[in-house]
Amino acid sequence: MTTLTAEVNRKAVKAPVKSMMDNVMEQFGSAAEQIDLHPNIKKILSITNNEIIVNFPVKMDNGNVEVFTGYRVQHNNALGPYKGGLRYHPTVDIDAARALAMWMTWKTSLAGLPFGGGKGGIKLDPSKYSQTELERITRRFTYALADNIGPEHDIPAPDVNTNSQTMAWMADTYMSTRPPAERTANQHVVTGKPAGSGGLEGRDRATGYGVYLSIKFWAEKHDKSLNGKKIIVQGFGNVGYWAAYFLEKDGAKLVAVQDAYGSIQNQKGISVEDLYNYIQINDGSIADFPKARPIEKTMFFTLNCDICIPAALGNQITEENAPRIKARLIAEGANGPTSVEGEKILLERGINIIPDILCNSGGVVGSYFEWLQNRNGELWQLDEVMGKLDKKLKESFEKVYSYAEREGMDMRTAAYCLAIERIEKANKQRGIFP
Ligand code: GLU
Repeated sequence: MTTLTAEVNRKAVKAPVKSMMDNVMEQFGSAAEQIDLHPNIKKILSITNNEIIVNFPVKMDNGNVEVFTGYRVQHNNALGPYKGGLRYHPTVDIDAARALAMWMTWKTSLAGLPFGGGKGGIKLDPSKYSQTELERITRRFTYALADNIGPEHDIPAPDVNTNSQTMAWMADTYMSTRPPAERTANQHVVTGKPAGSGGLEGRDRATGYGVYLSIKFWAEKHDKSLNGKKIIVQGFGNVGYWAAYFLEKDGAKLVAVQDAYGSIQNQKGISVEDLYNYIQINDGSIADFPKARPIEKTMFFTLNCDICIPAALGNQITEENAPRIKARLIAEGANGPTSVEGEKILLERGINIIPDILCNSGGVVGSYFEWLQNRNGELWQLDEVMGKLDKKLKESFEKVYSYAEREGMDMRTAAYCLAIERIEKANKQRGIFP
């Protein structure tokens, strides 16, 4: 049904807007061609293993009942349990969950983790609900998903508009509904929990830190220093904030930020800490930040800068704005922020892209550490976590960079080739049951 509707819509509009699913399938298709992927494996990877849709009722604060639709798509588990976040956003639907689940499969494979890929979420705008309502929504969603997730089966994590509090509610609900003797053994059913409740020290900054490291590694390859470099960041959530935080520490200058509520610019520099403190007292929004001036939404990606970090939603850089982008480097903090057409234009213009499945993989690597920590009953220190992240991300970056150099291809295609080759190998070793 979804595909049919999408087809009809596509024909009705003049310039077809591609979905994230179209993008991920095209990216997969070009890499599959490059490595001559076996047609049987291509068939398997072109489709998701399982798709769970749940409709569940929740009592609102005013006594009314609302019914929500939640999704969990499990794309592939050839390398280990399904892994990936849950997002709360009006754009969540089955198509988005499929695309995002596929990206997780490539991401975990590229990072060398023993995980597959999954993704999901609830179609809702969380700003319209109170904390107590969000808690009940999360708990009821977890309960509805319970037979389909599990610490060795499918392990959700935070994503857009979900955080460590969401994961604490999920872990508590899941564990509370297990037989008493099994409860604590299930703590790793989700990752991204608060550090005091089985979470990993540093998991909060892991994705943004990984984005920063990827940029640093790229700069080193190009004999460039980050000092004085101008950066623009779309999305000042967990990823955007921490990426800007670490870049600023290295001397880079945040000159513009965009979020769901507004776009601001100050070419003299925006203090990351000031902006962070401001959003704490402004309902999480950057709008009207007094030390920058508001700008037109569509101008954002075309601003003067050296590095552009899309760290919000998919399909933000497209053929519409790609010809006017001034950055020399795009570091994808979000999943799927650049459309295939947008990317073609950027590459022709000599603009480099550090692809999402590499650039934002610090988050899932941090999740892997948390999972291991829970599984082994350990507690890791922050410096230990950061050191391990550094090592892991450096390895991935080097692998992708040298593959791209050797094969004369862009970094996204190289990252996909590496990711798919690993899954193809596992599939070949295991064969097909029966
Ligand atoms: N949502 C994050 C991502 O897209 C983290 C996933 C995870 O830690 O499982 O990579």
